[in-house]
Amino acid sequence: MNVNDTEIAWSILQKGGYLRTSELSEADVVLLVTCSVREKAEQTIWNRLKQLTALKTKRLKDKTQLKIGVLGCMAERLKAELLEKEKLVDVIAGPDAYRDLPRLLTLAHGGQRASNVLLSLEETYADVMPIHTSGHSAFVSIMRGCDNMCSFCVVPFTRGRERSRPVSSILEEVSMLSDQGVKEVTLLGQNVNSYRDVSEAQFSCSELGSRLSRGFSTVYRAKQGGLRFTELLDRVSLVDPTMRIRFTSPHPKDFPDEVLQLIQERKNICKQIHLPAQSGSSRILQTMRRGYTREAYLELVDNIRKIIPGVSLSSDFITGFCGETEEDHQQTLSLLREVGYNIGFLFAYSMRKKTHAYHRLQDDIPAEVKQRRLEELISVFREEANKVNSTLIGSTQLVLVEGESKRSCQDLCGRNDGNLKVIFPRKDLPSETTDSRTVPVKAGDYVLVKITSANSQSLRGQVIGHTSLSDHRKSETIPDEQVAVC
Ligand code: SF4
Repeated sequence: MNVNDTEIAWSILQKGGYLRTSELSEADVVLLVTCSVREKAEQTIWNRLKQLTALKTKRLKDKTQLKIGVLGCMAERLKAELLEKEKLVDVIAGPDAYRDLPRLLTLAHGGQRASNVLLSLEETYADVMPIHTSGHSAFVSIMRGCDNMCSFCVVPFTRGRERSRPVSSILEEVSMLSDQGVKEVTLLGQNVNSYRDVSEAQFSCSELGSRLSRGFSTVYRAKQGGLRFTELLDRVSLVDPTMRIRFTSPHPKDFPDEVLQLIQERKNICKQIHLPAQSGSSRILQTMRRGYTREAYLELVDNIRKIIPGVSLSSDFITGFCGETEEDHQQTLSLLREVGYNIGFLFAYSMRKKTHAYHRLQDDIPAEVKQRRLEELISVFREEANKVNSTLIGSTQLVLVEGESKRSCQDLCGRNDGNLKVIFPRKDLPSETTDSRTVPVKAGDYVLVKITSANSQSLRGQVIGHTSLSDHRKSETIPDEQVAVC
């Protein structure tokens, strides 16, 4: 989300006449796009601010200027503290105030400290085309904010109420990205599958995909009408059938069968679902105000696997939430074992001000217990992910190449349909245009990789050929050996 926010802010600033530099020594303005979801993310920013204010003081001595700005969730949450403690911060802009950045910076250049942290009920930056900087993959924001009010989460307070970007502007951006040669688009939102476009009158009677997953409920009154996520996903995937479509981060409550069937049927929608569980204990899920039980979650996992065989699943877990007993913790470990996720994001709970938990619950699990439970979670997750990922050994995976592997310049890496990292040695392959030449595999290529080993983090294999998304889908019914030959 912050990568996309940076691209939006940058687009606005570029129109305002600013030039971007990646060299700190060249910068007249430094803007930090921040996250408040965990204490650690905020601590990183406080440390960075200390370094930057030291640099600013040095510049003042040299009679040159450096303006410092804090953008995003931390600006929203800690405006007063930032103004009070970090006297050298010049600009503070919340997630809905990026359009105001040129004005805020003009004030700062005039010697004032400027801030805007107003949250909006409408702002989606629909007409701001972000400046994409991430190669062959791009993020497209489709909705902002969250109405769920999970008791541990600060997002509804920093990013405001849920609102969806009009479908027409999303399709325009996806189409523009396709023209630019982008091969993969990730639709973004705090609750991406709660998407509900009410910008046009004819959407008010649409009910497609408006049902909740079975056994799930909301803390707010069910919203009627509007163009829903199923319809949006359908339209986005038709823009360019050779472009991969992913989406994140969804809420498990918004997976009616229609959306699952669409994912199964549509060739270019990745068979990958992020399904944040947070806990495996129904009692803790209730205090978290997640709107489902362990049993309903497991029933949803079964339904997803029934409709989308071979789907890759990922999840988020918080350990050590208020009142979590050893029995609750064991329930979370057993959920991890029962589901067997391919990818997991596991964290120890840190209490955030303003949240329901802050006002009503006790952060009563000692730090060392949280740490020990986190380590147990990580260990079980790795064991299970290792098993699940190992089932892919011997298969041929369609991989979008991202570039050089971080570990070795001899290897390239990319992602398969399930969003798992795939590493393979560099290789020249026959050119797609002539029979006689070979060309090196490069970032942005779709290649077929035969998987030879796996662990909980990634897959390794040998590249066996170039392909395209449409060619590969046709080859899915061909036995593996024949794919390897071609
Ligand atoms: S659904 Fe819950 S965890 Fe996710 S952003 Fe909203 S309040 Fe936070």
